Amino acid sequence: MEHVTRPKHRDKELDEVFAEAWDKGWRITRGKRYWKLWCPCESKHLKSVKLTPSDPNYKKNLLHKPASGTCWNGEQE
Ligand SMILES: [Zn+2]
Repeated sequence: MEHVTRPKHRDKELDEVFAEAWDKGWRITRGKRYWKLWCPCESKHLKSVKLTPSDPNYKKNLLHKPASGTCWNGEQE
């Protein structure tokens, strides 16, 4: 397998979400205005993350969000 470096989010807290996603085997790709986090499961759950979140609540929601509706915590749906 080729070595791929984890993309970094410029926001420190969101970058921690990236790090966690990366550890869980999620793929991270960059779109025009969003980062995309791809769940490794067959359902291909997707979370988009703004490149530059302006709303502090957006960030707060996101820190909890990966777990809802995906297999973030290990359960496949
Ligand atoms: Zn999934």
